[in-house]
Amino acid sequence: MPMRPRERHRTGHLGWLRAAVLGANDGILSTASLILGVAAAHGSRSNVLVAGVAGLVAGAMAMAAGEYVSVHSQSDAEHADLELERTELKADVKGEHDELTAIYVARGVEPAVAKQVADQLMARDALGAHARDELGISKTLRARPIQAACASAARFAVGAAAPLCVTSLVPATSLIVAVSATSLMFLALLGALAARAGGAPIMPAAIRVTFWGALAMGVTACVGAWFGAIV
Ligand SMILES: [Zn+2]
Repeated sequence: MPMRPRERHRTGHLGWLRAAVLGANDGILSTASLILGVAAAHGSRSNVLVAGVAGLVAGAMAMAAGEYVSVHSQSDAEHADLELERTELKADVKGEHDELTAIYVARGVEPAVAKQVADQLMARDALGAHARDELGISKTLRARPIQAACASAARFAVGAAAPLCVTSLVPATSLIVAVSATSLMFLALLGALAARAGGAPIMPAAIRVTFWGALAMGVTACVGAWFGAIV
């Protein structure tokens, strides 16, 4: 049988790109806002840099902790499901065959064929077949909390490094303008990149992320200036 070339689906690779862009966005936006807030309160460049570096570390650790807890609880739930399924498979093989058959019938397969498919899949890997078609757990989706936590921290740190680099390079007098302008530019670029990769319209995505970025930085700078005046 001649092999047809497979369609190029984008959703498969999009997950990591989306996560990378969102993580970097968080890093850019929260660190740039922090830098602007301290700078607007008339912090010296070293004050601003200390706050920015602390913000990078705190943000990266918070992302890692949040990701670890979230992925781990998902992984616990999957393990519990698989354990239950394993017990059921031992206790009632016939019932589990019927269950899998019913799942395929519900998806539109003829009962006789569905029974054959269930029998053949279960002969090869009963737990795998039930995990995939009954529980919706596939091998590639199985949760890896440590990797997820490290990746999440790294994405945030990469984003946060951008406004920090700008802060250390520009003269103190133009710090606020330079950090806000370059950060909005980075945000717009990342928004456009993510939209392009996903086949979505580029302009609305870039405008959306730039608007929220400007809002976050503006609010933090105002609060910084106000708080800097009263303390
Ligand atoms: Zn089952």
